[in-house]
Amino acid sequence: MDLGIKGKWALVCGASKGLGFGCAQALVQEGVNVLIVARGSLALEQAAATLAIDAQQSGATVLFCAQDITTEAGRAAVFSLLRDFDIVVTNAGGPPLGDFHDWGREHWIRALDANMLTPFELIKATVDGMAARGYGRIINITSSAVKSPIASLGLSSGARSGLTGFVGGAARGPLAARGVTMNNLLPGAFDTDRLKATYQDAAQRTGESVELLIEQRRKAIPAQRFGNVAEFGAICAFLCSQQAGYINGQNILVDGGAFPGIF
Ligand code: NAD
Repeated sequence: MDLGIKGKWALVCGASKGLGFGCAQALVQEGVNVLIVARGSLALEQAAATLAIDAQQSGATVLFCAQDITTEAGRAAVFSLLRDFDIVVTNAGGPPLGDFHDWGREHWIRALDANMLTPFELIKATVDGMAARGYGRIINITSSAVKSPIASLGLSSGARSGLTGFVGGAARGPLAARGVTMNNLLPGAFDTDRLKATYQDAAQRTGESVELLIEQRRKAIPAQRFGNVAEFGAICAFLCSQQAGYINGQNILVDGGAFPGIF
């Protein structure tokens, strides 16, 4: 299926690896030009080099910018390179796990900055231009923990729930009639470095082995496997497509059937 987005420009955050990289790769394969962002320049350059191979086939352009997207200076550096994005995929590292008794204001502010206010600022900076051009796609990578909270992930589900509420309203505002959609993608368990780090952390706290914890999680998923970043990216690319113009303000769970409810 031709998604009808060849030649569009996408900003993909947190894209040197993991889910962000999967989204960038799927977009590049559709001929979408991308500016990818992550903090570490080495991994980012390697990611850009991998994307350049797909870009040769699709005719896309790949740019990269090593910045911390959760800072004002980082976002200013990105927007000094390019401003008129048609597609924005918001994403950054998730907050640490822990016990809520240990979290103070500074922990919450950090989580809110990274997982609520950064997407908000990126949306605010780009959607009016999208509306003026009559096409725009905002995809926020959030988490299944918004829909199915886990005690140790309170900073994540708390901050991301704030974003979810904001996006739910903004998506249904005046921009909706001007070709701009905003949706959230909620990953369950995907095979990325973040997943491994989460279980290393949990193993340290519980005294269980990493392998055992990972195996227990895998078995609890009806699909009996973790997701891979290519299938996540493909969903992102579809949500960015012309065909997905009527999908707006949704929270799309991608979890191999792990959530036990039907809605
Ligand atoms: P990952 O660690 O594999 O990759 C994260 C990417 O984001 C890397 O490229 C990293 O360099 C970049 N990044 C992190 N902080 C950044 C910042 N401040 N500025 C710019 N770039 C930054 O992680 P992932 O598994 O791809 O997860 C992506 C997001 O999805 C995270 O917020 C994570 O909490 C969330 N999530 C992941 C899963 C999962 O199973 N993998 C499940 C639920 C939610």
